[in-house]
Parts: sequence; structure tokens; C-alpha cells
Amino acid sequence: MDSMHLNPKFVLDSKDLALYREAHPLPAKFLIPAKTLSKPMLVLDFDETLLHVEYKAPPNFDFQTECDKRAMFVQVRPHLKTFLAKVKPHYEVAVFTAAQPNYADPMLDRVDTERCIQYRFYRQHCHVFREVYVKDLETLGTPLERTLIVDNHPGSFMVHRNNGIPIKSYMGDSGDTALLELWGFLDEIKSETDMIPKAVQYANGWREKLSRQKKKAEASATQSYESSTSSGPQ
Ligand SMILES: [Mg+2]
Repeated sequence: MDSMHLNPKFVLDSKDLALYREAHPLPAKFLIPAKTLSKPMLVLDFDETLLHVEYKAPPNFDFQTECDKRAMFVQVRPHLKTFLAKVKPHYEVAVFTAAQPNYADPMLDRVDTERCIQYRFYRQHCHVFREVYVKDLETLGTPLERTLIVDNHPGSFMVHRNNGIPIKSYMGDSGDTALLELWGFLDEIKSETDMIPKAVQYANGWREKLSRQKKKAEASATQSYESSTSSGPQ
């Protein structure tokens, strides 16, 4: 799933961007009421970024809830509470999900007991472009040079790739430390007046690392295939 971040489909050129904006013009009224933000804006994706939902009980889960009378077993990404508490004094925080409120809200209420997340945006706030839910940061109305979006799906930020901070998809791994690493980066750049250069550098580094891991995995798969065929019966 994370190899999507290496897919050129999610890299739009200026022509694509113009087509997008033509299909989805900027709103007359922004999602966040106009005010001078003293803090930068941090937009967080929900599923596979903050938590993971299973519909059959996995061996370990943090709590159970339901949506449309269907049971859901929730695995919260490790260190989420610490992450939100660390981020809160320095960033305005929003969750932007392609899910519906009746799905996301009960879980958000449960994981954000300290109310660190000030804004919630849902599917109705997304735009569909090339069959992907796009989270258009310009609909928020916050200064783009101080707005970042963390998402495990590169399509979410394909219109604002320079503002996009990719994160590994969380599928329930109890040893996951991605939020601690993310905080390390956010802490480092929290006072930048223009966060874009460092965000681009971080995202490029993240993708290069992913690409190296992918190549290594492919090479070892080829190697084990070759050794299994060479040691087989003559
Ligand atoms: Mg997601």
C-alpha cells in the first residue's frame, strides 16, 4: 500500500492542477473562519494514520464501537495521545478524513479526550479527482506556507504535494513509532515562517527511503527465488 507514494499518478503537473481547479473552484467561504493564526495548521488524516479499524475482532484492539449497527474493533496508533499533547501547544490541529461523520466522530471522541483536535472535516469536504478523495488545503483558508497535511494516501494531497507529509500506513503494528518520528520533524520546523522547503525535503527523503526498501525487498525476493530454483531437483 505504501508503494502508492512512489506512483507518478499522484504527481500532478501545472496542466492537471489547472484542470482540477477548474472542476473545483475555490469556495466563497473558507472552512476555517478568517482570523490571524498564530500557530501553523496541521491537518491529520484519520484511517491508517491515527488508527486502524477491523470488522472482525483481531487478537489485540483498544476499543470496540459501531457504525450503522456494524461492530468495529479499533487499534489506536501507538503514541497517539503523546503525539497530540506535544503538538497542541504549537499547532492548530484538524482531522480531515474521507469518511463520514457518523463513522469517524465516535472514534475521535474516544481517542482525543483532551480535545487537542480543534477542527474536523469529512468526506463532504473532500473533492473527487481521478477517482481519489482529494483534501484541498486551499478550502481551509489558512496560509499555505504554514499548513501541512499528514496522510498515508498520496492522493489526498496530490493537489498540494509540497504540503504533504507522507506517513506509513498503520495496520495495527504494536511496535509502530511513526508518530514519534513525525513529532521529531514537526518540533524541528514549528517556528518556520515558510514550512514548505523543509516539508518537501522531509517528504522526498521519506520517499527515497521507501524506494530503497522496495528495491532491497525485490532484490532479496529475486535472490530467494533463484536459490530455490537452483537447489531444486535437476
Ligand atoms: Mg488514510
